[in-house]
Amino acid sequence: MKQSMLFVPTLRDNPKDAEISSHRILLKGGYIKQVAAGVYNYLPLGYKIIKNIENIVREEMDRIGASELLMPSLQPKDLWVESGRWDDYGKELIRLSDRHDRDFCLGPTHEEVVTEIIRDYVTSYKKLPLALYQIQTKFRDEYRPRFGIMRGREFIMKDLYTFHADDEDLDKWYLKVRGAYQRIFDRLDLTYRVVGANSGQIGGKSSEEFMVLCDIGEDSIIYSDESEYAVNIELVNLKEGDPSPDGKGYLKIAKGIEVGHIFKLGTKYSDSMKANFIDKDQKSKAIIMGCYGIGISRLLMSVLEQHNYEDHPLWPEEVTPFKIHILPLDKIDSSNELIARDLYLHLNEKYDCLYDDRDERPGVKFKDADLIGIKYRIIAGRKTSDKIFEFINVETNERFEMSMEDILKLEL
Ligand code: ATP
Ligand code: MG
Repeated sequence: MKQSMLFVPTLRDNPKDAEISSHRILLKGGYIKQVAAGVYNYLPLGYKIIKNIENIVREEMDRIGASELLMPSLQPKDLWVESGRWDDYGKELIRLSDRHDRDFCLGPTHEEVVTEIIRDYVTSYKKLPLALYQIQTKFRDEYRPRFGIMRGREFIMKDLYTFHADDEDLDKWYLKVRGAYQRIFDRLDLTYRVVGANSGQIGGKSSEEFMVLCDIGEDSIIYSDESEYAVNIELVNLKEGDPSPDGKGYLKIAKGIEVGHIFKLGTKYSDSMKANFIDKDQKSKAIIMGCYGIGISRLLMSVLEQHNYEDHPLWPEEVTPFKIHILPLDKIDSSNELIARDLYLHLNEKYDCLYDDRDERPGVKFKDADLIGIKYRIIAGRKTSDKIFEFINVETNERFEMSMEDILKLEL
């Protein structure tokens, strides 16, 4: 893509109200723009990364056999009364009424809506199991929206719901989803822990959270330095340095950002909303459920918290907005620029390239390139007339002089 056509409204100065790196980068680099407290625009560069994250999540959900649907944000009060949450959910639920004085809420989560879909459809064990997910905008009137899109009042979530005839099948699926989540967070190049957790507002029998280890996280977790053992500190009475309860290693404490949460719901919603099926033994039973969330927009910031240097992003391979950034340093339409453009046109057939065709000084181009954070950078400078360019790996700071021919042969 030509950079002149990419809308990236960068800020010259550091945004004053942003306290953490990821927030400063997203505002300064023109990735997001605030509309109201906890409500943001995702500008083209930010949205490109959001879509990359969504696609990883989609691939891993599809891989385990879940199917994607899209449910509405506007949800009628009746469903929430049925589940008992119209009263229980409290002030985080954004409530509104239509012109006929009928009450609605803006969905903070979708257990009610999805249970209503399947109770009308699943009447026999033959239709189970089922796994339905969506990537959709959620609304929660958070008491304290914070850190940009880390804790928004309107944010993007992936939510998956599974439906089963018995507990064994739920257990099997829970592990399948857990594995998919690990693949997602591995692909995002995150350092994280899976921790035993409290089930909070959603309810249900047991749950685990996926915590990205990071100093600005709101949760504290205690984990073993030698095994998978990890638990939210709220739930235990352990301290740093104690031997790990599983007998492997010693305990450490770290801050974590919750990026995912998986629950075995059991029959909480199918009981209250009467979602039953006829089992093999001809008996009517409540459908057993699981639900599983990932904070897509929160992930954007979490990835950035773990992948930046001196307030500059360094996007991991699978989320980078472009694969290669090409910076011609000569004036537009000069003979050198035409050669650089030729390189861009060829390379762009193979990789998603960003070409800085703007009529700007090299200093401006470099500064903006640092805010875009693409790992591979090609500079078309003094030796362009000989078709020689500088190829830079920004992450390792390795620099090579390369001919156009060799660049076009690269496998990145
Ligand atoms: P938190 O404790 O951070 O409020 P939660 O337990 O309320 O999170 P869930 O209901 O489990 O969150 O939602 C699933 C996922 O959605 C969370 O793991 C998190 O990644 C994301 N999420 C929740 N609330 C927000 C928010 N206000 N802004 C952005 N992402 C959020
Ligand atoms: Mg919450």
